[in-house]
Amino acid sequence: MKLTHSYKQATVDGKYDVIIIGSGISGLAAGALLAKAGRKVLILERHYTPGGFTHMFKRKDYEWDVGIHYIGEVHKPTSVLGQVFAYLSDNQLEWAEMGEVYDKIIFGDEVYDFRTGIDNFKEELKKHFPAAEDQQAIDEYVQVVFDVAKVGGGYFAERAMPKPISFLFGKFMRRGLLKIASQSTREVLEKITKNEKLIGVLCGQYGDYGLPPAESSFAMHAMVAKHYFRGGSYPVGGSSRIFDTIAPAVLKAGGAIYTNADVKQILVENGKTTGVLMADGKEIHAPMVISSAGVMNTYYHLLPEEVSEKAGLPQKIKSLTPSSAHLSLYIGLKHTAEELGIEKPNLWIYPDNYNHDENVNNFRKDSKAPLPVVYISFPGAKDPDFTNRFPGRTTIEIITIAPFENFSKWDGTRWKHRGEDYDAYKEELSQQLLEYLYKYVPQTKGKIDYYELSTPLTTKHFINYEHGEIYGIDHTPDRFKQTHLRPQTPIKGLYLTGQDIVTAGIGGALFGGVITAAAILKKNLVKQMMSQKVG
Ligand SMILES: Cc1cc2nc3c(=O)[nH]c(=O)nc-3n(C[C@H](O)[C@H](O)[C@H](O)COP(=O)(O)OP(=O)(O)OC[C@H]3O[C@@H](n4cnc5c(N)ncnc54)[C@H](O)[C@@H]3O)c2cc1C
Repeated sequence: MKLTHSYKQATVDGKYDVIIIGSGISGLAAGALLAKAGRKVLILERHYTPGGFTHMFKRKDYEWDVGIHYIGEVHKPTSVLGQVFAYLSDNQLEWAEMGEVYDKIIFGDEVYDFRTGIDNFKEELKKHFPAAEDQQAIDEYVQVVFDVAKVGGGYFAERAMPKPISFLFGKFMRRGLLKIASQSTREVLEKITKNEKLIGVLCGQYGDYGLPPAESSFAMHAMVAKHYFRGGSYPVGGSSRIFDTIAPAVLKAGGAIYTNADVKQILVENGKTTGVLMADGKEIHAPMVISSAGVMNTYYHLLPEEVSEKAGLPQKIKSLTPSSAHLSLYIGLKHTAEELGIEKPNLWIYPDNYNHDENVNNFRKDSKAPLPVVYISFPGAKDPDFTNRFPGRTTIEIITIAPFENFSKWDGTRWKHRGEDYDAYKEELSQQLLEYLYKYVPQTKGKIDYYELSTPLTTKHFINYEHGEIYGIDHTPDRFKQTHLRPQTPIKGLYLTGQDIVTAGIGGALFGGVITAAAILKKNLVKQMMSQKVG
């Protein structure tokens, strides 16, 4: 089945009930759920490849994912996330578990394994922190993380509710999570332990949500930590399998998905959306539009300025900040992971200093300071199907944060034609990242066949985040207080979806899609999906 058409080569015809801007996991999930409820859905994606951050790209004899390295809670079909994926993909999406260890947290030469299973996780950490007060702190920490999970469901479910119901019950449903979400990760952890080393290790996955402990909301930290407690998984066949297995649901109901389809503006007449204006000047009409392009993009750029101003939208989001930008180095090797002895766990490499806030602030002040975090992922080892598609090969990805400002002088230049100074800067950064690989995975030295660096400008160019954001808006305590980050907008017929209305992460963005579809269909879709037989 041909899943997409190129907007450049085919005209959009037919009538659609809903237009969705963006084909990332949130737009796709919302589209599939609406399609399964009988709606005709048109998904418009500006990139030439569909899938948003779940898409993959190829160079030479290699293929890389761009925005997924591991997902928690999917391998068990009884988990809500596993069930939702099974439902959306009609059981076609398979997951490969990463096994015993999913993350290795490294400070200098000290390595802390995050082991699959709560008891294993605690036991392993306790080996490194034998003092009685630290052992007690580890137990307390895990308990607090679970306490957050208990109140998170109500907080997000409220967002799918119609306004009058949310007006009556919203405050009550949000209260539990807000109490903890309005505190920073550091504030909560310092109540549990005074051991900076332990805090540093417990926050060893902070790169998964992009902010160090003093700046991130503890709710976000806890959701991520819990998400992985029972291990990580990777999509068999690579992350593009997510789009490939969910998109058919949209098409089966008479919907269509177009790539190279850049939406310039959301059309609004008399306070109601009437469709979209494309970058080539054509209008496509529908009574409902869902934007997965991010709340900042939608309110600052996609809505006509006077409409956005009149509805007070820029005012609502002015306290929100874009998340940091990032670099990704995509590496190809002419050996299999097995031949090179490359294992599945992700490496999180930090400077010797266990205080992440200091490391990040030092780097913000001086970009020559040690990189505050370097993350290395081994997709070629995690995907059991990789060597079937690419015999004798494996891939590695290295990621770090990078201020957009370091690249702003090339903003506006053309992709692949940004100039020699840009290429030279990229090469310098690539070599800096490769040094980490050679130090921690020395067997890769001399074996690299290909590498290519993506910068914040790449993210801006392909996924349309204005500041090359890695995770949409920042996960600060303030973000969790914003009750307007929900599917419904003040413009009739216009809905939001995506990581900005729940949280970053494939799971968060997927639930963005679920609550948007639930708000439109006025149904408890999670309950409906959990009652289906899968697996
Ligand atoms: C480097 C990196 C690593 C990550 N690793 C993980 C991980 O290991 N595990 C995990 O769970 N999560 C991970 N994430 C986070 C996860 O990928 C995202 O949170 C999630 O995919 C966001 O989905 P979304 O649907 O909200 O947005 P997106 O995937 O960004 O989709 C939005 C889509 O809208 C399109 N669009 C924007 N503007 C327009 C327009 N004007 N017209 C048409 N289309 C438009 C974009 O091109 C894009 O395709 C990672 C992210 C990054 C960047």
